[in-house]
Order: sequence, then C-alpha cells, then structure tokens
Amino acid sequence: MVGSLLLGWDSGFHYFLMMLSVPLLVIGTPPRRALPLTGAVLVAYAALYAVCAWLGPLRPLPPLQAGIAMWVNIVLVFGMFYAIAAYYRVRVVDAERQLLQMATIDPLTGLANRTQFHARAAAELSRMQRSGEPVTLILADVDFFKRINDEFGHDAGDKVLVRLAAMLREGLRDCDVLARWGGEEFLALLPACDSRSAYEVAERLRLAVAAAQIEIGGRALSVTMSFGIAEVDRDHDLLSATTRADRALYRSKHEGRNRVTVDAERAVVA
Ligand code: GH3
Ligand code: MG
Ligand code: MG
Repeated sequence: MVGSLLLGWDSGFHYFLMMLSVPLLVIGTPPRRALPLTGAVLVAYAALYAVCAWLGPLRPLPPLQAGIAMWVNIVLVFGMFYAIAAYYRVRVVDAERQLLQMATIDPLTGLANRTQFHARAAAELSRMQRSGEPVTLILADVDFFKRINDEFGHDAGDKVLVRLAAMLREGLRDCDVLARWGGEEFLALLPACDSRSAYEVAERLRLAVAAAQIEIGGRALSVTMSFGIAEVDRDHDLLSATTRADRALYRSKHEGRNRVTVDAERAVVA
C-alpha cells in the first residue's frame, strides 16, 4: 500500500496485496473467516485504488524507472505465486500418497491389506480369465502364535510377524499378490499357477519358515506355519476359493500343523 501511495498505482505494488493476501487468508484462517477477510482486502484494494487515483504518486518516478519498478513487481509476484502453488502441490501429492498407503498397506508388515488384495486380485483374475491360465490361493497361518505372545510379549510377536511376512514375500514371485489377511494369517494369490505348483511353492515356504531362527531379545526362536491351498474356479469366485483355502488350512491344523493341505474337492495334489 505504501509503495502504491508513494510511486503510484502503475508501479504494481498493489499486486502483492491481492496475490499474497488471498492465498494466505484462505490457507491460514478458518473457512468461515477467510471469505469475509478476503472481502475486506478487496474493499481495502478498491480504497487504495481510489486514493492513488485521487492523490497521484507522492514521489513520482521518471517514466523509465516507473516502468522498471512495475515489471520488477510483476515478476516478483509471479515468482511468489508460483512458489506458493508449487509448495501446496507438493503437500497435496504427499498427503495423497500417505492416504493411499494408509488405505492399502498393512502398517506392521508393509504387505497389502485386504482392500489392496481385492483390488490387485480382481486385476489378476481378469487377466487370467483372458489367458485361460489357472489362479491359486495359498492361505498361511502361524502355528501356536498365541504362545509366542504369551511367552515373549506382544512386541516380540509383532517382530515375528514382520520377519515371517518378509520371508513369505521373498519366497514368492513379484507377480504374486501377498496380503496380511488377518492377525497372523497371510493370503497369497498366484497367477498362472495351478494347485500342484502352488503346493510346491507352499512346501518351500513352509520349510524355509521352519528352518529360520528368529532372534527375539537375544534368543533364537523357531516357528512353523500351516498352509491351505485352493485353486480359483473357472468362474473366478474369489470368496469360494478363500473359503476352500481356509478349510484346507483347518485340515493342516487338525492333522498336526506345520504342513500344506490342498483343497480336497478340487485337489490336483492330495
Ligand atoms: P493355531 O496354531 O491354532 O493357529 O494357534 P494360534 O495360537 O496361532 O491361534 P489363534 O489363531 O487363535 O491366535 C492368533 C493370535 O494372534 C491371537 C492374537 O492375540 C494374535 N495376534 C493377532 N494379531 C496380532 C498382531 O498384530 N500382533 C501380535 N503380536 N499378535 C497378534
Ligand atoms: Mg495361528
Ligand atoms: Mg489365526
């Protein structure tokens, strides 16, 4: 305002008033106050224009210097406006990334959660429907996990889950979808894989888990996992396949744990 009064309206100082106050008011004040305050700035802006027009510049500059002052101000306001917009774009993109991560990733293990599993599974299933290749589910559950929590504490249980999640992820292909399905249950969807191959994969995972030593509070811990396998039907009913994988997992538990069972109804490998 002082710049406009001294050097005149054409010096361009008034752009600062408009272009900086409006974004700062909208960002920095509660929504109910931002609009009336913006209106107040508009009134001040109009008043400044009227006073400048009425008084003329109090310290007039020669035309060349006045032109230079105006263009310097215009360039500065463009730069500031760009900086504000770029800053908020970065903030919005970052917030979107964080929200997406919170909505799709299990925070403990870093694996997909159920929502993400369903989204990726739907994409894989429609791809497999086109190619006619089989799709198989592997459901895995930690054996006697409650005992680990009871004996070593919940934090130790969490560490075991993180290690197991990493081992399962390492033992699968990049195209396989792996999710934390529940507390200590993991579900994998293997595209282009029948139950016979999935059985081999699950056996490899089972042996790797059973052989691993997980270090907890200076003690080496061994855990085992049980697995249930079900091939997805031709109609690609994921719910039915999950139920059958769960039933096969139940049989693994029932028959002594630390084993792999293929859904009996459609078993390629019994
Ligand atoms: P089973 O061999 O029959 O599966 O025995 P289990 O002890 O694993 O039985 P169950 O599935 O009933 O117990 C699962 C336990 O996992 C119960 C729950 O306290 C624990 N759990 C679930 N989510 C978490 C978690 O995020 N962290 C930890 N530390 N424990 C969890
Ligand atoms: Mg369990
Ligand atoms: Mg369980």
